[in-house]
Amino acid sequence: MHRNPQPTFDTDTLYLGAPDVARIVARKGLPECIAGVAERIEADFRRWNDFDKTARVASHSEHGVIELMPVADAARYAFKYVNGHPKNTQRGASTVMAFGVLADVDTGAPRLLAEFTLATAIRTAAMSAVAARALARPDSRVMALIGNGAQSEFQALAFRDLLGIRTLRLYDTDPLATAKLVRNLMNAGGPGLELRVCESAADAVRGADIVTTITADKTLATIVTPGMIEPGMHLNAVGGDCPGKTELHADVLRGASVFVEYEPQTRIEGDLQQMPADFAVTELWRVLAGQVGGRNHADEVTVFDSVGFALEDYSALHFLFDAARELGIGDTIQLVPRLADPKDLFATIARADTGTPRAATHPPRRPVPA
Ligand code: NAD
Repeated sequence: MHRNPQPTFDTDTLYLGAPDVARIVARKGLPECIAGVAERIEADFRRWNDFDKTARVASHSEHGVIELMPVADAARYAFKYVNGHPKNTQRGASTVMAFGVLADVDTGAPRLLAEFTLATAIRTAAMSAVAARALARPDSRVMALIGNGAQSEFQALAFRDLLGIRTLRLYDTDPLATAKLVRNLMNAGGPGLELRVCESAADAVRGADIVTTITADKTLATIVTPGMIEPGMHLNAVGGDCPGKTELHADVLRGASVFVEYEPQTRIEGDLQQMPADFAVTELWRVLAGQVGGRNHADEVTVFDSVGFALEDYSALHFLFDAARELGIGDTIQLVPRLADPKDLFATIARADTGTPRAATHPPRRPVPA
């Protein structure tokens, strides 16, 4: 006997490949995307207690790490798959590559499957800017940008637009990376930024109001040392984001007020990994929610020990999902089976196409309605 067919349950998933995400960013404009994601991150961090949070699950190997980053509220579950392999660039691949998923908590149905490498750069820059808006001196105009790789343009533009940075002091151990950053910023239509190429990290940091470190090297580096610190600086330390990988000397942290995303994760992965377990830090959401102050005075040194937290991906995935539907970009795919009888998974085998070349049978990709 056949079970009565159920009303068709909507299991459609919106798929955004790398070209789709790039098209969304090009159509909306990168500055608008950074600002839009920053707005969502800020709003989501303010409702921190609505989220079921966990430190990401990391699988380490000799040359890198692969991580899963889940988070959920009552409506949506999100996760990101992301890697970090600093030596990849020598093989012609990116250090960081990612994709993300949004699913309905009610049913578990996956709603969005999206390339997330570009979006990771956008959300990381947006997060850096959100933190700096809360922690840096409001009159900050000069930023050192150390590490001029894939993430750097996004950081530069986020700090220009959301903080009012007007001068960038650039340094990378690879001069070609700095040349690429300068070229890209100049091609971005005259960036409204004065660009100074510096000889060393110490040279870049000199006179800066904000110092962003976004280098990739799986080592306990001390790119910023206490002697480089000037009163009132804000440090946006982004590259030290996994065990065995740091950028700041421990004494820089000792001399500063340190802010983190999700403390249990940053204790393991951030520059904070060097510090004893009782070293005091503040979770940034508390500043954004108005529970505690950020910077106390103009001479205070503040550090945002960024490692990247799943909630930022949740915010950015929602931004992408909405933007894709607004612009009609992406394809609806059947990522999971749609069953007439939900207890008859077996029937999908009988209905499957066999033998015919995929190109002939695969339905044409159809655009998602706006
Ligand atoms: P990338 O490999 O494209 O660029 C990194 C750059 O750092 C390279 O140009 C390299 O030459 C430079 N570098 C390495 N050591 C240096 C040093 N001692 N001084 C100056 N420059 C140095 O990598 P990317 O995609 O730009 O990512 C940069 C880092 O940011 C990675 O470590 C990545 O894991 C991290 N990251 C963090 C977050 C976060 O949320 N915190 C998000 C994305 C990426």
